[in-house]
Amino acid sequence: MNARTSTDVLVLGAGMVGTCTALQLARRGHAVALVDRRAPGRETSYGNAGIIQREAVEPYAFPREWQAVFDVAFKRGIDVNYHLSALPEVLPRLARYWHASAPDRYAPIAQAYSRLIAHCLTEHEALMAESGASDLVRKEGYRFVFRTPAAMEEAATRAARLAADYGVRHALEDGDALSRAEPGLRRRMAGALHWLDPWSVSDPGALVARYAERFQALGGQLVEGDAATLQATGSGWQVRTAAGPLAARHAVVALGPWADALITPLGYRLPLFVKRGYHRHYRGGPGLRLPMLDAERGLVLAPMAQGVRLTTGAEFARIGAPATPVQLTKAEAAAREMLDLPDPVEAEPWIGNRPCTADMKPVIGPAPNHPGLWFNFGHAHQGFTLGPASGRLMADLIEGATPFVDPSPYLASRFL
Ligand SMILES: Cc1cc2nc3c(=O)[nH]c(=O)nc-3n(C[C@H](O)[C@H](O)[C@H](O)COP(=O)(O)OP(=O)(O)OC[C@H]3O[C@@H](n4cnc5c(N)ncnc54)[C@H](O)[C@@H]3O)c2cc1C
Repeated sequence: MNARTSTDVLVLGAGMVGTCTALQLARRGHAVALVDRRAPGRETSYGNAGIIQREAVEPYAFPREWQAVFDVAFKRGIDVNYHLSALPEVLPRLARYWHASAPDRYAPIAQAYSRLIAHCLTEHEALMAESGASDLVRKEGYRFVFRTPAAMEEAATRAARLAADYGVRHALEDGDALSRAEPGLRRRMAGALHWLDPWSVSDPGALVARYAERFQALGGQLVEGDAATLQATGSGWQVRTAAGPLAARHAVVALGPWADALITPLGYRLPLFVKRGYHRHYRGGPGLRLPMLDAERGLVLAPMAQGVRLTTGAEFARIGAPATPVQLTKAEAAAREMLDLPDPVEAEPWIGNRPCTADMKPVIGPAPNHPGLWFNFGHAHQGFTLGPASGRLMADLIEGATPFVDPSPYLASRFL
């Protein structure tokens, strides 16, 4: 059979966001090609902590307390690191991030964010069911664990507010209850906040791959190609693929951290930046039943098919800059205070880039100056969570259907 030369929609990028966009469109009967230079779910969507964060109704704000800002500036904590060489480019964007994080500006941002997050479980559920992926998921929540009662009390106050404002559920556990729930822990902690709604998966990359298989079963084309070859044609867009040129009326940029490289030459200067993160696996120790965030150190431990996955917080650096896994080294030492970790599985840590925007909301909607071009990127800390919901919204917009969530907070035009 000859490769097709045209389709209805090109989706550029087969991470969680692009794969779900392609799948949501294919489910509605559209002819779609999903284009990536790699197999689906091999970049950021592979290496994350695998938590479908129904509790993440409020996005990560920039710290506003001066003490916290100084801690970041002087690299005092484990959770944040930065490369000096990245600062000239990233500082103006971080200034906008800081500005957007002021309480009066942050409140409507969180409201908008919560309305999309509210659909994360139902949208994943539908895709998991038809993709035969239910074996990958645990529907038992995840924990914030605490070393000190003061930190736990502060988190409990916030959780009570989130329960009242957004209906997200939690349970508080004292140190004994936590030890019973996670018998692998080697020390008694002050306690835990167990978020009850979130789900977690044992292999994030495998979930994306299952969604991509479902997309293909529905007739979708999975194509190897370079999004950088995207060109406008008289009637739409064309990209060069391993099977030759492929044209479509619509093209969706779902390139996660690489979106900026594609849209800047088209004239879009959006305040995008990345927060890099590292992970490593440890196989054979006592293990964990559910993921946990060590809230006072800023690291996550998650049980995965490959072993316990240790993930780190944010590093402000250029994509592709040499790895500086100082946070991982410190996180490993902090994690070993809680859990016996055997030697790491990988010689070198994995590194990924959270695709962030200055106002903490993803960019979903039409490219303001290019008919037929659409944006779906910038999902920061929750792209694994939001892929299916964001993909559904994108499909609504491309079809001209009534959007299932108000898209106005996500439009790229907010920055122009
Ligand atoms: C350490 C860490 C932990 C995290 N934990 C969580 C979590 O628990 N829960 C959660 O919801 N989120 C989490 N995240 C965030 C989440 O992983 C991201 O938001 C999400 O994976 C972004 O998905 P994406 O599809 O936009 O990007 P990606 O998964 O990076 O996909 C982009 C795709 O574009 C392709 N591409 C790039 N350039 C080109 C090109 N020129 N041509 C063709 N293809 C190209 C890439 O190959 C890639 O497949 C975490 C992130 C990190 C780093």
